[in-house]
Amino acid sequence: MAKEVKTTCPYCGVGCGVIASVADDGAVSVRGDPDHPANFGRLCSKGSALAETIDLDGRLLEPEVNGKKVGWDRALDLVARRFSETIAGHGPDSVAFYLSGQLLTEDYYVANKLMKGFIGSANIDTNSRLCMASSVAGHRRAFGSDTVPGTYEDLELADVVILVGSNLVWCHPVLAQRLAAAKEARPEMKIVLVDPRRTMTADLADLHLAIRPDSDAALFNGLLGILNHPDCLEEHPNSPVGNSPHLDRDFIENHTCGFEEALAAAGCPDLDEIAHATGLNVRELSDFYSLFLKNEKTVTVYSQGVNQSEIGTDKVNSIINCHLATGRIGKPGMGPFSVTGQPNAMGGREVGGLANMLAAHMAIENPEHLEIVQGFWNSPTISSTPGLKAVDLFKAVKSGKIKALWIMATNPVDSMPEADDVKAAIVACPFVVVSDVLEKTDTLELAHVKLPAAAWGEKDGTVTNSERRISRQRPFLPLPGSAHPDWWIVTEVARRMGFASAFDYDGPAEIFAEHSRLSAYRNNGDRDFDIGAYAEIDRQAYDGLQPFQWPQRAGEVSETKRFFADGAFYTADGRARFVPVSGKVPDRHDPDYPFTLNTGRVRDHWHTMTRTGKAARLSSHMAEPFAELHPDDASVLGIAPAELVRLISSRGEVIVRALVTDRQQPGSIFVPMHWTDQFASKGRIDALVKARTDPYSGQPASKNARVRAE
Ligand code: SF4
Repeated sequence: MAKEVKTTCPYCGVGCGVIASVADDGAVSVRGDPDHPANFGRLCSKGSALAETIDLDGRLLEPEVNGKKVGWDRALDLVARRFSETIAGHGPDSVAFYLSGQLLTEDYYVANKLMKGFIGSANIDTNSRLCMASSVAGHRRAFGSDTVPGTYEDLELADVVILVGSNLVWCHPVLAQRLAAAKEARPEMKIVLVDPRRTMTADLADLHLAIRPDSDAALFNGLLGILNHPDCLEEHPNSPVGNSPHLDRDFIENHTCGFEEALAAAGCPDLDEIAHATGLNVRELSDFYSLFLKNEKTVTVYSQGVNQSEIGTDKVNSIINCHLATGRIGKPGMGPFSVTGQPNAMGGREVGGLANMLAAHMAIENPEHLEIVQGFWNSPTISSTPGLKAVDLFKAVKSGKIKALWIMATNPVDSMPEADDVKAAIVACPFVVVSDVLEKTDTLELAHVKLPAAAWGEKDGTVTNSERRISRQRPFLPLPGSAHPDWWIVTEVARRMGFASAFDYDGPAEIFAEHSRLSAYRNNGDRDFDIGAYAEIDRQAYDGLQPFQWPQRAGEVSETKRFFADGAFYTADGRARFVPVSGKVPDRHDPDYPFTLNTGRVRDHWHTMTRTGKAARLSSHMAEPFAELHPDDASVLGIAPAELVRLISSRGEVIVRALVTDRQQPGSIFVPMHWTDQFASKGRIDALVKARTDPYSGQPASKNARVRAE
């Protein structure tokens, strides 16, 4: 009889429930879990092909040191010894971990505990830095905490859903399916897409605003001004000035501060000026602003087009400002909503997996929080200053400041900006450890020590999706070869570094219970993240854990689905902060590199294709890397459809197929991020992206690089 196991999809931040069936002959099939509140049985193309990606072809099954297979003891002893020697000789900041939103929360927790609380450095960052760091920074500036206020249900309840820099149909497909179903049931619901490209998501939208790249903050600053001066819109010529009915004065006065400053920074709304800044026409702007003014139930969903920018954090705050000004936050069908790219970017945030955060959403800059975490861990040290964020971390590897590096479950040689420099840095690093599931990735090939990690279907732990819902990933396959879960590998190294008693876990249930206890430790409701209800969870209860949204405080039956409807925030005075935003983007125009390069995902591939590259049917959607460019540009360049095009930046070049389409704006080129040297020679697009970062979040601007085309 087939064995059935409820687990969670390992791809995007929607976090769909999956039922995996293992037949008597070992054949695996998957289907959507009808009881999971994220997807109610739906799966997208990637999720439904999961069973085609779990074979052992190409798996790393034994530890290796300098290309030779060795036993675990030898590999782990070496890792512990080299990290300990490096720390003894050069200090704790001479080592670093680079993690991944693919790790489970329990893996993330122990890695963060080891680096911050026992090694004593905060040089632990993650590929989530490339994904949602600007949302984290924006949330913390506005709310005093990294809190996503709403739920997926809000998209279904809203009268207007604004999708900003989000190709939801391809990148969060099941959430897009839920939105499409809601619109079908209520055709009067309006969907607006704000995106320079006419993506497939535009087909779902009533209004597509093809803005100039990086002009989102100008658009939302304009909205803030219009909310105060609706008389600037033709349809509202007689609206009172200075006492606009579109502002929630009670909410602004009682629950926020900084409104006047934000309004002053936004400037007096002038539709012609906004049109000039955004590349939109006045009619489009009027239509958009009127929709926002007329419909209280509005959700603004944003993703990488907002986050991956030199002004990503300001863009986030320009959106949040408009929701604070109207009190449209934390109520059914209302709120700003960041959708994360990865399956566990949120879980990583919860355990402090970013270099500038502490566990349980505490702040590394806050002495009281440091004392709480160190006291709870009973640790010998704690890093009191933020560590190096991803781009700076690899620069420090290149400069020789970091001398021992451990990369877990990610492939920075392909996915980091200035990827060739990252590769050179790793090559030059004296000691590099990589834990991964595959035997061959562009990063793994550079490792001195390769550690075989458990893959999806073998792993056991939890993940958190974009609506704060914690779900179990459960194993239904045996561990192959000598592979082990990441939490086990980290704790074995920690023990060998002399921290045995603090890392004496018998499994992920025990780690989850400790993480839950820490979230509730000296937390009297003054911090947002609290899952203390699970502080004493045992293995049996952990196995049966149903998906739930935090907070879940001990001793309370939590019905909290949304944050901030009561106007109480996590700042010192309990008020939300308006953030003044200029909306100005550094001018990066360069006559040698006249095109804007935008990188992103395709529907059926994931990251650097280590998993989706195994499923032939997923590769049949887009079989090779391509450059999407407008027919006018193709004509000027003399490039015919399907010819090869060479893209060149100051950092490198790729050669990919030309996809000539008017879905692309003139002057802009889109190239997907997935292809690596393992799949397509000359297709590593992140080698071309200059590592410019947002000053608050450190997130790289992966959507506005400069290239020329031949
Ligand atoms: Fe997996 Fe995301 Fe697709 Fe759901 S929408 S099945 S989480 S890839």
